[in-house]
Amino acid sequence: MDIMLPGKMDGIETATYLNKLNIPVIYSSAYTEDNIIKRAKKTNPLGYIVKPIRFENAKIAIEMALYKNKMRKRLNKEIIERQHAFSELQKLNEELQHFTFGASHDLQEPLRTIMCFSQLIQEKHASKTYQDIPELTKFIIDAAGRMQDLIDSLLIYSGLSFKEKPFEWVNSKLIIDSAISNLMITVQETNVNFHIDNALPEIFGDKTQLIVLFQNLFSNAIKYCTEDSPSIHVSSENFEDHWCFAIKDNGIGIDTKYQDYIFKLFKRLHQTGTYKGSGLGLVICKKIVSRHGGEIWFESQPGKGTTFYFTISKKVEGS
Ligand code: ADP
Repeated sequence: MDIMLPGKMDGIETATYLNKLNIPVIYSSAYTEDNIIKRAKKTNPLGYIVKPIRFENAKIAIEMALYKNKMRKRLNKEIIERQHAFSELQKLNEELQHFTFGASHDLQEPLRTIMCFSQLIQEKHASKTYQDIPELTKFIIDAAGRMQDLIDSLLIYSGLSFKEKPFEWVNSKLIIDSAISNLMITVQETNVNFHIDNALPEIFGDKTQLIVLFQNLFSNAIKYCTEDSPSIHVSSENFEDHWCFAIKDNGIGIDTKYQDYIFKLFKRLHQTGTYKGSGLGLVICKKIVSRHGGEIWFESQPGKGTTFYFTISKKVEGS
């Protein structure tokens, strides 16, 4: 870029515009005055060749400039990658804070019950009034059971990222069979009817995580059902870039105002004791679906059952 140009703009002003378009500039000018060099520097040039130009000088300056430009691009790419990693880390940190807060809060409740009833037992012992002790012990065992369930879910949740396996082609019917057989005792006790569509696709994903996904949705469909015989219908639909699975139940249903709420950590719609749970099942599902490039949501009418939908991306390179 020459500095003296015909017309209203000089080369330095022109370079300012080129800069905005990411076009690298080398000046070639007879000007050597400080004020000109100072203005030129502000446009971030890759070189400045003083006229009259000698071929060797220009050649070396251009080679240096090309190299600097390559380095500059690499640096910019690294900066963008680092910014991305930083915002991911910030997100994870927020998630972790939320997680720690929720986990400690939810573990306190059964712990408080255990402490309170243990003290009562101690007092009953001291006063030799033994008749209430079996009932008090039952409260302690129940609370310990709730803690155990919560800790189990927490371990699954926090272990999800560590236990990630590479994606592979898996038959979704076999995934569903494994999920059902993992729930075999509940399935037998509750007399569930499964209706699984025949045409279920091969999908690309993490087999273990997909089993956990179906298992959590099935176990909720069974748990939140007051019918004599829970019924679960599994189907799928093929779209251009994803598959969409539907798991329909005949359970108690969910008010759709809780669409986002129930997918958050430790969010439950029932008091302790009504239905067992930790409020982590759907969070785990959401995490798994999102790793598979998909979304999860539900449609429901209270009292008329719920259908959970989730999508799995067909992009094969994701893992
Ligand atoms: P948990 O079942 O351990 O409470 P989840 O994260 O699996 O936790 O579910 C969150 C809440 O969403 C549950 O407490 C329940 O209120 C509601 N829910 C989930 N699945 C169903 C379902 N199939 N039918 C009705 N309510 C459901």
